[in-house]
Amino acid sequence: MAILQVLHYPDPRLRNTAAPVDKVDGEVGQLVDDMFQTMYEAPGIGLAAIQVNVPRRVIVIDISNDRSEPLCFINPVVTRRDGLEVMEEGCLSVPGIYDEVERANEIEVQALDRNGKPFTMTASGLLGVCIQHEIDHLDGKLFVDYLSEVKRGRIRKKMEKLRRQTL
Ligand code: ZN
Repeated sequence: MAILQVLHYPDPRLRNTAAPVDKVDGEVGQLVDDMFQTMYEAPGIGLAAIQVNVPRRVIVIDISNDRSEPLCFINPVVTRRDGLEVMEEGCLSVPGIYDEVERANEIEVQALDRNGKPFTMTASGLLGVCIQHEIDHLDGKLFVDYLSEVKRGRIRKKMEKLRRQTL
């Protein structure tokens, strides 16, 4: 396994649209393992492949405190959305920034698991929000896109400053 480099906003590669996975083979399995390791190391509760510069429709999530609930979604599609809720979100690609975003309260999602087997899941609360946040990444969308232009501009400046400091 390997720790992958996470792209930071406003890196234009985060705006790519990820392509579906044709076949869940060993290479995809390796990517999933590396993504879990990268997410746990960060630490974070969700990671999309596009954040590690792999534009494929692959997501890993674990919202547990003890890394006991690893979830992998390949080619995820939201098939139902119900209600609305507002929750504070953060993102490994926008480190140190947290803000409130409105999303569906409950969703149903269909995807393939780590072994290529299809499954359907209903999720609400933090897990539901996390899945929606990660699926957005696959379409080149970030949680800061839901914020006002003024806020986004401020975040962008902060990130660019941070980048200059670490170069
Ligand atoms: Zn994110």
